[in-house]
Amino acid sequence: MYAGLGDVRAFLKSRAVTGITTDPDGDPEDPASLTPWFTTKPVLCSKRRMISLDKHAPLTQHHALRRDQPLWAAMPGGSLRTSGTIADKAYDVIIVGAGISGALMAHSLAGQEMKVLIVDRRRPVSGSSLASTAMIQHELDVPLHVLRRSIGAENARRVWQRSAAAVERIGQIIGDLDLRCAFRKKRTLFLSGEDFGARALTTEAAARNQVGIEATLLDGATLRGRFGIDRTAAIDSSISASANPAQLTAGILRSVRTRGVEIVSDVEITDVRAFDDDVVLSTSQGALLSARHVVFCTGYEFLEALANKSQKVISTWALASRPRLQRPQWLDRYLVWEGSDPYLYFRSTHDGRIILGGEDEDAEGAYKDEAKRDRKMRTLVEKLADLTGIAIGKPEFEWSAAFGVTPNGLPMIGRVPQMQNVFVAMGFGGNGITFSQIAAELISGEILGHRDADWDLFPIV
Ligand SMILES: Cc1cc2nc3c(=O)[nH]c(=O)nc-3n(C[C@H](O)[C@H](O)[C@H](O)COP(=O)(O)OP(=O)(O)OC[C@H]3O[C@@H](n4cnc5c(N)ncnc54)[C@H](O)[C@@H]3O)c2cc1C
Repeated sequence: MYAGLGDVRAFLKSRAVTGITTDPDGDPEDPASLTPWFTTKPVLCSKRRMISLDKHAPLTQHHALRRDQPLWAAMPGGSLRTSGTIADKAYDVIIVGAGISGALMAHSLAGQEMKVLIVDRRRPVSGSSLASTAMIQHELDVPLHVLRRSIGAENARRVWQRSAAAVERIGQIIGDLDLRCAFRKKRTLFLSGEDFGARALTTEAAARNQVGIEATLLDGATLRGRFGIDRTAAIDSSISASANPAQLTAGILRSVRTRGVEIVSDVEITDVRAFDDDVVLSTSQGALLSARHVVFCTGYEFLEALANKSQKVISTWALASRPRLQRPQWLDRYLVWEGSDPYLYFRSTHDGRIILGGEDEDAEGAYKDEAKRDRKMRTLVEKLADLTGIAIGKPEFEWSAAFGVTPNGLPMIGRVPQMQNVFVAMGFGGNGITFSQIAAELISGEILGHRDADWDLFPIV
C-alpha cells in the first residue's frame, strides 16, 4: 500500500527549491512562493512543461449540467450519504467525480488491497448521471460503417466489439452486486431517418454482421407490420439494456464503500501536480492530498487543460410521461432511436412510463432557456405521436441538460499528457454509460499493471 509523502507541503517545497516547479510566474528558488501558487492558480503542469496556458481557468470546467429534476431524483435509492471530510492525506488511488464513471472506476479497483478515495464537489450522483435516460447501448452514435472511414476498419471493429462486451459486463456487475436499479435487457430498433436512409442501414447491418455483431435489417413493410412505424427501414438488434441510472450509480457506490472505498462530497479538486511516482492534489478546503494514481471522472466538466475543439458541450432535452401510460407491448422490450440529426430516442420504464429525448442543439447554454425548453418539449411529444401514435399527454418530468460530444462519437480515455500517473476518462456522448465501463476496464488495467489490448483505442487528441 502507498505510504504517502509524509508532509506534502514540505515535499513540494523541497521540489520547488530543486527547481521542479514550472510555474511561469513563480520563483523556483523561493519555496514560499509555492504554496500560494499551488493552492490558488488552477493550472496543470508537469516537471517539464505547462499543459494549460490559461492560469485563470478552473482545473475542471464548471457547468450547471442540468436544469430541473429528472424523474430519477423522485425515486428512492438514487442517492447516498457521504462525509464532507477526507479521512487521510495519502491514497493509492484518488478518483475525482462520483457519477457513473467514478462509480464503475472504483468498482474495478475495489478489493485490490488499495486505499481508494472518491471525491466530488457536489453530492454523489448529482451530475450528468442523474440526467441520463440510461439507454445502455452497444450501438454507438456513429454507425460502424461510418466510423470505419474515420478510424479505419480494424479499429472501428474493435470499438464496436468492445462496446458490446461492456454492455454485457455492466449487466454482469449489476447481477453480481444484486443491484436494484430497474435493469432490463433490451433489443434496439434503429430507424432510418434523414441522415441514414434504407441504403445506409443496409450497409450498416452488413458491416455489423461481418464483425459478428448481430443486426437484422427490416424493410419498411416489416417495420410497419411488426411495430406500426412508417419508415423505409430499421435495424433490429440485441445486446442493449436500460436501467435507473441514479439507482445504478448509487448502488455501485454503496457497494464499493462496503469494500473500503472512501467517498467524500462537497470537496473540489482545484489543482494537480505530478511527480515521478506521486501525484499531489489540492482541494477547495486548502488540503493537499497525495496519491500513487489519480483518475479524473468528471464527465462533461472536462479538465480545462485538455478541453479543445474535439470535444464540446451542447444542449439536450428529455421528458418522462406519467406511469402506466398506454403503449404498444413491443416497446417494453426495445430501445428506439433514429438516423437523423438531431435524433429522437425513447424507451419505456419498469413502471410503464415513456422516456423520450433528443432535439440536441449545438449551443452550450441553450438548455437553461425556459421558453426554448417548453418548445422542445412540445416538439418531442409531437414527434413521438407522429411516429408511433403514442399520446404522452402532459409529461410528469421535463428536464434539459448539458451534453458532451466528440466528432467521431468516441470518448478519450488515457493518461494526461506529461503526467504518468494521472488518468482521464472524458468526452462521453450518447453512449456515456457504456464508455464509462470501458474506461474503468482500461484505466484500472493500467493501475493494476496489466495493459489492456485496447488501451490505445480511445486516444486523447
Ligand atoms: C439528458 C441526457 C441523456 C443521456 N442519455 C444517455 C443514455 O441514454 N445512455 C448513455 O449511455 N448515456 C447517456 N447520457 C450520457 C451519460 O449520462 C453520461 O455520459 C454519464 O452520466 C457521465 O457520467 P460521469 O460520471 O462521467 O459524469 P457525472 O455524472 O457528471 O459525474 C462527474 C462528477 O465530477 C464532479 N467534478 C467535476 N469536476 C470536479 C472537481 N474539480 N473536483 C471534484 N469533483 C468534480 C462533478 O461534480 C460530477 O458530480 C445522457 C446524458 C444526458 C445529459
